[in-house]
Amino acid sequence: MTARPDLVVLGAGVSGLSTGIRLAESGARVLVRTAAPPAHTTSALAGAMIGPNLSPPGDPQRAWTDESLRVFGDEPMPGVAWRDGTLAARPAGATPPFAEQTPGFRPLGEDERPAGFGTAFAVRLPLVDMPVYLAYLLERLRDAGGEVRVAPVGSLDEAATVAPVVINCAGLGARTLTGDGELHPVRGPRVVVRNPGLDRFFMEAPMAPTWASIFPHGDHVVLGGGQRHSDDATPDPAEAADIVARCAAVEPALAGVEVLEHTVGLRPGRATPRVEAERRGDALVVHNYGHAGNGVMLSWGCARDAAALALGAVPTA
Ligand SMILES: Cc1cc2nc3c(=O)[nH]c(=O)nc-3n(C[C@H](O)[C@H](O)[C@H](O)COP(=O)(O)OP(=O)(O)OC[C@H]3O[C@@H](n4cnc5c(N)ncnc54)[C@H](O)[C@@H]3O)c2cc1C
Repeated sequence: MTARPDLVVLGAGVSGLSTGIRLAESGARVLVRTAAPPAHTTSALAGAMIGPNLSPPGDPQRAWTDESLRVFGDEPMPGVAWRDGTLAARPAGATPPFAEQTPGFRPLGEDERPAGFGTAFAVRLPLVDMPVYLAYLLERLRDAGGEVRVAPVGSLDEAATVAPVVINCAGLGARTLTGDGELHPVRGPRVVVRNPGLDRFFMEAPMAPTWASIFPHGDHVVLGGGQRHSDDATPDPAEAADIVARCAAVEPALAGVEVLEHTVGLRPGRATPRVEAERRGDALVVHNYGHAGNGVMLSWGCARDAAALALGAVPTA
């Protein structure tokens, strides 16, 4: 990019790339500055399940999820597949409000539920194979004229010298950039195993502090889960073994399965994502961070709103 960019996006995870695409496809000159390439972000470690939309009407997270589900429904994209699966909870009678609005919703009888689960229902939702999907987003952004540079910024003021409009999609990195005390690391282990022949997904709720999640993506399956407030991203073999055991208790075909990869991601924890604009001198900073365990699910909705806030300040776009 030779001309000065109209906007600089900080971060090349799912939030930065989706927002960058919305901006670049609107005609703006977009530069993405990132500390790490997309394949080395937290986003690359997500499962990733889109939905169900359990937020109440009026909650922005409901509208953001609806927009993502609309996009994933309307536009076929590499790495994204709508799949049948089961959502389950251990207590009986635990079907959450709004669950019945999920595509493919069907309560499962006792003979269809995994052992130990009093509530289970079938749904059909998008599952995203994140490394494939992020590579697609990167290519789509570049096709729209966007440029991605692995060169972190040290501050929002530094970013404002690059372009008059800054979109802060720095995930957990936004802690340093903004001083936001609400933003905190939530440790999430991820185990990838060879697929023993599964095509249905499974997800247990509530998601605290541990659960079983099984997300098949063709030849491999992404297993989770766990969450705790920690900035320690060191893989723990005992934690991984527990995850495989919990998942094998639900899906016996996973017992003794070959582990291909074990990593730990730090989710950008926050009670609610921060999507809002802030004036800093002559610059406009639009924040889009703090998506906790739902950043892929919220990505297209938050990108739409962040891009609208930013484009209002770019007369040429
Ligand atoms: C194990 C696990 C499973 C998950 N499963 C799901 C799921 O099923 N569904 C779902 O929706 N979500 C899931 N998530 C959550 C999801 O991964 C996050 O919410 C999402 O990745 C956040 O995306 P992001 O782009 O905002 O942040 P990130 O992916 O963390 O990207 C932040 C970007 O900012 C850059 N950056 C940081 N500091 C700077 C700086 N100073 N200058 C420039 N760039 C900077 C980084 O290099 C990176 O590119 C899961 C997470 C984990 C760990």
